[in-house]
Amino acid sequence: MDKVRVEDLAMFGGRPLFPRPVSTSNLVKPNFESFIDLLLLGLSEQGELELVETLEKELCDFHNVRNCVSLCNGFWALVLTIRQLALSGRSEVIIPSLTYRRLADVVSWAGLIPRFCEVDEASLAVSPSSVMSQIGPNTALIIGVHPIVNCCDAPSIEAIAMERGIPIMFDSVESVYETIAGRRVGSFGAAECFSFHASKLINGFEGGYVTTNDDALARRLRKSRVPAQQHISSAQGMEARMPAAHVAMALQGLRELPSQIQHNREIYRCYQEGLATIEGVELIEFDESEQTSYKNILVRLTDHWPLTRSLTLNLLNREGILSRAYYFPALHQKAYEYPVVKNILPVSDRASQQYVLMPCGYQVAEADVDLLIDFLAFVKRNSVSINSRTSTHHES
Ligand SMILES: *Cc1c(COP(=O)(O)O)cnc(C)c1O
Repeated sequence: MDKVRVEDLAMFGGRPLFPRPVSTSNLVKPNFESFIDLLLLGLSEQGELELVETLEKELCDFHNVRNCVSLCNGFWALVLTIRQLALSGRSEVIIPSLTYRRLADVVSWAGLIPRFCEVDEASLAVSPSSVMSQIGPNTALIIGVHPIVNCCDAPSIEAIAMERGIPIMFDSVESVYETIAGRRVGSFGAAECFSFHASKLINGFEGGYVTTNDDALARRLRKSRVPAQQHISSAQGMEARMPAAHVAMALQGLRELPSQIQHNREIYRCYQEGLATIEGVELIEFDESEQTSYKNILVRLTDHWPLTRSLTLNLLNREGILSRAYYFPALHQKAYEYPVVKNILPVSDRASQQYVLMPCGYQVAEADVDLLIDFLAFVKRNSVSINSRTSTHHES
C-alpha cells in the first residue's frame, strides 16, 4: 500500500486506494458465449417459453421443490406472494426490523400493515420468540427473512406459525445456496422469494422467483404475472414476467454457481486471515457445517476499534471501498407515510449501529482484500491523528 502519512488518505486529499471502486455487489459476469446462445434461444419464436421453463425447472431441482415461478424482481415476487398468502379480513404482517430496507414498503404495496419484530443478537436473524410475541388477532401473515450471513431458524418459526394457524413465507434472497440442517433453502413455509438482481448471488441483471410446494399457489402466481385478458377484468394481474435477456443471464449464472462459490470461499479465507490481525474488526463467520455461498462479508466494529462507524465508512468510501452500514436505520426507526406498528426493539437498535458490509463478489480479487486489510491496519495505527483532524475539520 502506498500510503505513508495521514495526508495520503483520500479524505485529506490523497489519491484513492481503489481508482476502480470495489463494492459489496456480486456483479457476476457469466461465460459470454453461453449467455449469448441462451439469449438467441430466448429471442426465437418458440424459444422464450422454453427458456423460462428451463430456468424454472433447473431452479426446482436446485431447491428441491415442486414449483418455481419466475418474476420481474424480488420486490414484486414478495408483494404478489403476500397478496396470495395473507389471511383475509386481517391486516398485519410480522417482519423483522433489522432487514432489507424496503421490506415495509413491500408489505404496504400488498395493502397490509407491517408490524416489526426483533432479531437475535448472536445470529442477527429474525427471532422466533419475538415473532411469537407479536402474533395477535390481526396477524395475517409472518415473513421470516434470512440474514446475509447464515440462515434464520426457519423450522422454529414454521412450527410457531403452524401452531397459531398463521401462514408463513420466507424472504430467502440472501440464502439462495444455503442449507438448514442439510436441507437446501427453497421449500420452507408456504413459499420462499428470491432475487436475481445484479448485486445478488445469481445475476440476471434483474429478476426474481418464488418457490413453493403448493401447486395451486404456483398456478395463481403464474396468472398474476401477466395482465388480465381482454374480456376478463381483474385487478390482480400485472406485467411481472422476466424479460428473455434476464432469463438467459440468470440461467447461465445458475449453471456457473459452483465456480463462483469457489471464488467467494477464497475471498472469505483472505478476510478471515487478514482480519484476525486487526483487533476491533470482527468477521461474522459462515456456518461451514452447512452449505454456504460465502458471498457476503460482514464485520462488526467492536470497542477495540478506535473510530466511529460513520467516520470509518466515510474513510473507506473515499478510497473507493464501497462498504456500507448493514441495515441502517432499522425499519422501526424510520418515518412512514403509511400505517405501521412500531415496537421497542433494543437489539435491532444496537445491531444497526455496529455492522459494516465489506467488498465481495465476482469483481473482488484476493489482492484487493490484502490491500484493504493493510488499509484498515494503517487507519488503526493513525487513528489518533485521524480523529483529531476530523473533529476540527468537519467531516463531510
Ligand atoms: C435485494 C433484496 C430484495 C429485493 O430484491 P430485488 O430483486 O432487488 O427487488 C428483497 N429482500 C432482500 C433481503 C434483499 O436483499
